[in-house]
Amino acid sequence: MIRVCDLGLYLSCPRQIYFTSRGHELKMDTVEYVEHLLLRGLAFQFPTLIKEERLRELEACLDKIADERTQPKEKIDEAKSRIDIDEIATGLSKALDDMGKGCLLEKIMPWRVEYHMCSKHLGMVGRPDKLILIDGEIIPSIIKTGDKPGYGIWKDDRLQLTAYAILVEEEFEVSVKHGFVEYARYGEFRETKIKRGDRRRVLRILARVKKIMDGALPDKSSRAPCDHCGFIDMCKTRKSLLSKFFGD
Ligand code: SF4
Repeated sequence: MIRVCDLGLYLSCPRQIYFTSRGHELKMDTVEYVEHLLLRGLAFQFPTLIKEERLRELEACLDKIADERTQPKEKIDEAKSRIDIDEIATGLSKALDDMGKGCLLEKIMPWRVEYHMCSKHLGMVGRPDKLILIDGEIIPSIIKTGDKPGYGIWKDDRLQLTAYAILVEEEFEVSVKHGFVEYARYGEFRETKIKRGDRRRVLRILARVKKIMDGALPDKSSRAPCDHCGFIDMCKTRKSLLSKFFGD
């Protein structure tokens, strides 16, 4: 089964799919990863903090989430120091002003959290961060902890939401027209339409991921994050082996 997060891995670097599908673990012990976990944990608290009008407790909430983590303390402290609570609070206050409390809560209060879905037909499984239910429509929602684009959402986020939309449609026999992204670092919430072209793209990527899992070593992508990748040594070894047998 291909996981929706594998599609994200493919978009980051197809070779990471090659290595993970062969049982190698992608090491997740960087400060960036801890920062991601803290922000994600905090984002799951946004609905409660907004509902109970406790936005002033954002920092205390982050401290509590950090205290529950098991990574080395220095790493957690560094990750925490990279999170700008004021920026998050400003974003959340602006969202409240723009949408009003009721409307904002409607868009971020989960109906289901990390709900597991499976498409036997496509060989794909996934658990979106949230499923939101508005007026009978089920909307997949994902929490992102990196940068946000100037407007709209990143293309990779759109494709991930589309994959989840496909799963929701099969699971609940409904049609999904929208998706939400929460850019946690900025306390910002954005909406997107699920497009037909993206549905086709998701199916194409699925076919490519299947091929890699079946054994085809892909080229590395031009934007491959090699500097932060735990597979760098394996990647170099593969390259020198291939050069030895087939030349550069
Ligand atoms: S080292 Fe670079 S090319 Fe190799 S798997 Fe990692 S990101 Fe991809």
